[in-house]
Amino acid sequence: MATTEGVLVASTSRGCKAINAGGGAITVLTGDGMTRGPCVGFETLTRAGAAKVWLDSEEGQRTMKNAFNSTSRFARLQTMKTAIAGTYVYIRFKTTTGDAMGMNMISKGVEHALHVMSTEAGFDDMAIISVSGNYCTDKKPAAINWIDGRGKSVVAEAIIPKDVVQSVLKSNVDALVELNTSKNLIGSAMAGSIGGFNAHAANIVTAIFLATGQDPAQNVESCNCITVMKNLHGNLQISVSMPSIEVGTIGGGTLLEPQSAMLDLLGVKGAHPTNPGDNARQLARIVAAAVLAGELSLCSALAAGHLVKAHMSHNRSAVPTRSSTPAPGAGGPGGCRRR
Ligand code: ADP
Repeated sequence: MATTEGVLVASTSRGCKAINAGGGAITVLTGDGMTRGPCVGFETLTRAGAAKVWLDSEEGQRTMKNAFNSTSRFARLQTMKTAIAGTYVYIRFKTTTGDAMGMNMISKGVEHALHVMSTEAGFDDMAIISVSGNYCTDKKPAAINWIDGRGKSVVAEAIIPKDVVQSVLKSNVDALVELNTSKNLIGSAMAGSIGGFNAHAANIVTAIFLATGQDPAQNVESCNCITVMKNLHGNLQISVSMPSIEVGTIGGGTLLEPQSAMLDLLGVKGAHPTNPGDNARQLARIVAAAVLAGELSLCSALAAGHLVKAHMSHNRSAVPTRSSTPAPGAGGPGGCRRR
C-alpha cells in the first residue's frame, strides 16, 4: 500500500490479522471484462434505429466480434450492449484483455470494428463522434459499472470467530452487524449512494493502485463496493462485493521498477506464463480481500467508539506525546481521515 493516510496500513493489517485468525478469506470472481462505449451518430433517427437493430442482431454481433477479435491476441469480445439517444447510438463493448487493464487494447479493437461497420455493413453514413462516448464509463461515477460490472467483478468473504472479534477487533459480532446495516446500508441509502455501500473501500483500493502501478483515476469505479455482515452461529460473516475492479499486471505503470517489484512480491508480475489473465484476476482478488480487511478494522473502530481517539493520537501532524497513547487495544484501528 502506498498512502499518506495516517495509520491506514496499521489498520488494514489489523483486519488481516483477524481474517487470518479465522482461517483466511475466500474470493469468487464473477466477471472479467473491460469496456469501451463509443458514440456514433446518424443524420436521422431511422438510420440510427437501423444501426441499433443491426448491432443487436446475430449478424451484427458476429461481424463486430470477428472484426474486434482480429486486432489482438488477448482481447476477446464478450458482449455488445447498445443504447440510443435521438440520432446518437452508444455501443458498450465488453472484452477480456489478458493480464492488461486493457484500455489501449480495447480502444484499438473498437476503432477497427467501427471501421468494418462503416465500410462493410452498409453504414457509411455513420459518423464516429468519439471512440469513448462515456457509455464505458471510465473514471466517472456511473450506475452502469455498478450494475453491469467493469474490469474484474469479485466477491470476498471471511468468517471471524467471535473471540477474535473481541480480542483483535475489540468489538462484538452484533455491534458490528448493526453498525454495518445502519451505516453502510441504510446510511448510504439515505445519502442516495450508487456503489458506495461500504466504509472506506477507496482508501485501500487507492493505496494498492498506487503501490502496484494501476491507474489511480480508475479508483472512481474500482471502489464500488457493498459490505455485508451477518451473525453466523455467533461468529461474524463479512463480505465485500466489488463489481468493477480495474487492474492489470502488464502495461502502463506496472512496468515502473518499484511498482513492478510490488507485483513480484504478490506473485502476479507481468504476463501469466500459461493462462493469460490469471495474474490480473489474482490481483483483483487480492484488492478485494484487502478491502475486506480494511472494512473489518474501520467498522470495528467505529463500533467501539475508538475512531476519533485513534485519529487524535495517530493521525494529527503534531508529534504525539506520552499522554496521547492509543485507545486500549486500538492498535491504530481508525486509519481513515475520510470515510
Ligand atoms: P492497456 O491495454 O492496459 O493500456 P497495453 O497497451 O500496454 O495495456 O497492452 C498490453 C500489451 O502487452 C499489448 O501489446 C499486449 O499484446 C501485450 N501482452 C503480452 N502478454 C500479455 C498478456 N498476458 N495479457 C495482456 N497483454 C499482453
